[in-house]
Amino acid sequence: MKRLLILGGTGDATELASKASMIKQIEVITSLAGRTRNPLVPTRMVRFGGFGGEAGLVAYLRDAKIDLLIDATHPFAAQISWNAATAAASCNIPYLMFIRPAWKRVSGDEWIEVDSVEVAASVLPEFAKRVFLTIGRQQLAAFASLDSIWFLMRLIDPPAPDALVPSGMILCDRGPFALENERRLLIKHQIDTLVSKNSGGDATYAKIIAARELGVKVVMVKRPPTPPGEKVSDVESTMQWLINQL
Ligand code: NAP
Repeated sequence: MKRLLILGGTGDATELASKASMIKQIEVITSLAGRTRNPLVPTRMVRFGGFGGEAGLVAYLRDAKIDLLIDATHPFAAQISWNAATAAASCNIPYLMFIRPAWKRVSGDEWIEVDSVEVAASVLPEFAKRVFLTIGRQQLAAFASLDSIWFLMRLIDPPAPDALVPSGMILCDRGPFALENERRLLIKHQIDTLVSKNSGGDATYAKIIAARELGVKVVMVKRPPTPPGEKVSDVESTMQWLINQL
C-alpha cells in the first residue's frame, strides 16, 4: 500500500483524488488550505490548513509516512507549489506537479497581459469604466482605491466583513460557468473590461469566449513561475504516473 498526498483546492485535484482512490494499492489523502467555507471534499481522508511552511510540510510528509506527492493546486498558488517541490526533494519521495495548460490568445481576443494583480489594477483607469473582476477574494484590496470604476466581483465566498473591497456588486458563485451565463452577465452589467488570472482549463474559459464575442477587453494576469520537476497537464497522464510508481 502506498500513501499519496494530493495538494488540492482545484476541480482537477478533486477529480484526481476520486480516480486515484479507485486504485486498490493507493491510499489518498487530500490537503486543502481551508480558504473556502464549503469546499468540495474529494476523498474520505482530507486535512485542512497550512503545514507551517516548507519545514512544516517536510515534517508532515515524514510523520504521515507519505510515499508519493502530487501538487494539484491552482497555477497561482505559487508558495505551496515551491514548498512542495523542495519538501519532496528533502524527503526523497516521488513528486509530480499537475498543471493545466495556460489559455492562449486567439484571433479576436483583445488581451492586455500583465505580470500581477497589482499591475492589472494600475492599468485599468486608462480605459475601463465597468469591470468584471474574477481574480478571487484574496486580492480585492488592490482595486479598492479605483473610485472611477464600477466592479462586478465574482467570488466563491463573500469577503470578510473588514476586507477592503472596491465599489460595485458582489456575486457569489462557483464554476463551471456556461457561455450563455457569461454572455448574459457581460451584457446585463455593460461590462467593458474583464480581469482574469490565466488559470487555464475549461471550467472558467467561457468568460474569455464571451468577452471575445462582445468585444470586451481582457486584462490577463500571467502565471507565476513554477518550480522545477516533472509536470503533467491532464488527469490521464497523472493516473499513468501513479500506476508507474506502484
Ligand atoms: P499559496 O499562496 O501558494 O499558499 C499560501 C499558503 O497556504 C501556503 O504556504 C500553505 O501554508 C497554505 N496552502 C496553500 N495550499 C494549500 C493546500 N492545498 N494544503 C495545505 N496548505 C495549503 O496559495 P493560495 O493562492 O493562497 O491558494 C490557497 C488554495 O486555494 C490552494 O489550495 C489553491 O489550489 C486554491 N486556489 C487558489 C487560487 C488562486 O488564484 N491563488 C484559485 C483557486 C484555488 P503553509 O506555508 O503554512 O503550509
